[in-house]
Amino acid sequence: MKEQELAITLSTTKKEKPQADQLQFGKNFTDHMFIMDYMQGKGWHDPRIVPYQPLTLEPSAMIFHYGQSVFEGLKAYLTEEEEVLLFRPEKNFERLNRSNERLCIPEIDVEFALKALKELIRVDRDWIPREEGTSLYIRPFIIATEPYLGVSPADRYKFIIIMSPVGSYYKEGIKPVKIAVETDFARTVRGGTGEAKTGGNYAASLKAQEISEKSGYSQVLWLDGVEKKYIEEVGSMNVFFKINGEVVTPALNGSILQGITRASIIELLQYWNVPVTERRISMQEVYDAYKAGQLEEAFGTGTAAVISPIGEFYWKEEKMVINNGETGELSQKLYDTLTGIQNGKIADPLNWITKLED
Ligand SMILES: *Cc1c(COP(=O)(O)O)cnc(C)c1O
Repeated sequence: MKEQELAITLSTTKKEKPQADQLQFGKNFTDHMFIMDYMQGKGWHDPRIVPYQPLTLEPSAMIFHYGQSVFEGLKAYLTEEEEVLLFRPEKNFERLNRSNERLCIPEIDVEFALKALKELIRVDRDWIPREEGTSLYIRPFIIATEPYLGVSPADRYKFIIIMSPVGSYYKEGIKPVKIAVETDFARTVRGGTGEAKTGGNYAASLKAQEISEKSGYSQVLWLDGVEKKYIEEVGSMNVFFKINGEVVTPALNGSILQGITRASIIELLQYWNVPVTERRISMQEVYDAYKAGQLEEAFGTGTAAVISPIGEFYWKEEKMVINNGETGELSQKLYDTLTGIQNGKIADPLNWITKLED
């Protein structure tokens, strides 16, 4: 793709920024957004930063009918020294392209996307909250805009980036959640779209989530869609177990989303010389380890919460309470280290941080 000019139109009015203690996830958006169009034959074109505003689309736009869309989620952090840090942002745009490939959406230029994102952050820099645990959540996404009801990949798309100041996921430090093991519904199956970050996977997950919430659980543990035996993910996070001193996470199998937090945790554990294995792991194995007193910790991982400790699993009418329902030592250490690297409070030994001004 050739180098493109990024046009910037600044907003003439500024929105009021929410108080730090009033930040709700994904409810407030900054003054500007990035947008770029695609048309077959012309490619991606007309990249621009404009005031945050509604989109005008035809009711026949293909996104509304067949769900051709992909998205990403990442964060920018403001350090005490007033520097803006991004955590492995190139990984998000590389993954966006893998999702694009699966959904037949034309690929984007990773380097240009990163450049455009940095410019957008510069424009809305004063929206990055500075209080402990807060950050600017960034949502890049692509939608099919061609007005057409035929089933085929669209010939027109929009690539958009919006940003939202977010508070700490946990108000009083990390706290374990209760998880129901899902035995009826599947989020996806191998050969499906589980590896892509696409809205349809989320739409498919809502029913199980709704049912588990009614029984007092905050998320479900997803098993493989074929045998309903092997563990895949927890809610919309990747999942890890600490069993008898070894950390285990399900191996990527085509239906598990390749989390950047997941990859970072594996790299960090290896750096610490903590045994970590990616392999197939069944719910029965986790249950047996629990019965043998060897299930030491379990946690979910993802950009929003970073680490979400699991205090209890409910499976086949039995409650499995892990580590007395308290946050495990390793879960806490991983949380402190990752968030410390992200907000610049501790060193970045594996070179994960991109500074806004780099
Ligand atoms: C985004 C996502 C994750 C976590 O990925 P991160 O890159 O760590 O934020 C895990 N599972 C699903 C289904 C996801 O959509």
